[in-house]
Amino acid sequence: VFDVLVVGGGPAGASAAIYSARKGLKTGVVADKFGGQVSETLGIENFISVQATQGPKLVAQLEEHVNQYEVDIMKGQRALSVSADELLSIELESGATLKAKSIVVATGARWRSMNVPGEAEYKGRGVAYCPHCDGPLFKGKPVAVIGGGNSGIEAAIDLANIVEQVTVLEFADTLRADDVLIKKARSLPNITIITHAQTTQVLGDDKKVTGLTYIDRDTHVEHQLPVAGIFVQIGLIPNSEWLQNSDVALTQFGEIEVDGKGATSMSGVYAAGDVTSSAFKQIIIAMGSGATASLGAFDYLIRHDTS
Ligand code: FAD
Repeated sequence: VFDVLVVGGGPAGASAAIYSARKGLKTGVVADKFGGQVSETLGIENFISVQATQGPKLVAQLEEHVNQYEVDIMKGQRALSVSADELLSIELESGATLKAKSIVVATGARWRSMNVPGEAEYKGRGVAYCPHCDGPLFKGKPVAVIGGGNSGIEAAIDLANIVEQVTVLEFADTLRADDVLIKKARSLPNITIITHAQTTQVLGDDKKVTGLTYIDRDTHVEHQLPVAGIFVQIGLIPNSEWLQNSDVALTQFGEIEVDGKGATSMSGVYAAGDVTSSAFKQIIIAMGSGATASLGAFDYLIRHDTS
């Protein structure tokens, strides 16, 4: 029986595990893939105090740090559900069940991709998902933002300060962002908005992105747009499907609702990082919330665990 069982091995999970182990609690981490989204990231320049690093390097350092403590890391294991009797249980895809007195859910999120030719090939080489992370890489260059919802228009406004020109491509005939954002975007001289545009291909020169093609859904004419970067902003999906039939309350977007201590609606279950309703999704934020959730779980244990 674990005192704290962390589900997820990204920055939030690693942080939660270290904080729990440092309290002398019996801590386990169960993760499908240790490292999470960070493993898929090339350059990281906003992890404060580390001027520049790379995803795989940071993942190795995270694991090394967790391994400094007596933490049982179970990799390649997917959680399927959580339930409660006297203890909390996590049922795994392998058929095994893990028991714990408290749980920190840190299963993260995944970006919805366009699923067009070239997208996967040029991921990290011009195809980007995070304007806060990768915007500065395209300083003075033309970029496209795919998606005209709030995140797409926010990204366009953000990028317009840095890059030469932003072209927003929206599939539908209208933008789905808040009016105030649309107004702001339309007022900026270097943002162009094209609706009814279906992105069909990412173009590149084998090394990096050189442009994209899209079809005008009215005329069916194909256009080419030369760009150095493509920010895909068509949704961030929380990895919370496995909690749908549990007592853990989710928002309408599937994010776990947490309070200031990282507590969810299910007693003893805490959550951190991109899977929660936290306003912004970044490594440093995920690590901070992992610490919060872990301290929240500790607080819960000293009040509830009398064994
Ligand atoms: P994740 O990193 O998503 O980790 C989730 C963990 O949960 C993984 O271990 C996963 O295997 C596991 N998991 C999921 N479901 C299950 C399950 N059912 N059972 C067991 N385990 C499960 N942020 C920055 O601050 N700077 C950057 O430069 C930056 N660049 C990025 C570039 C890319 C391409 C991407 C995709 C993201 C980038 N981000 C960046 C965002 C950052 O990576 C995330 O905010 C951060 O990783 C979130 O951490 P997390 O621990 O909440 O979740």
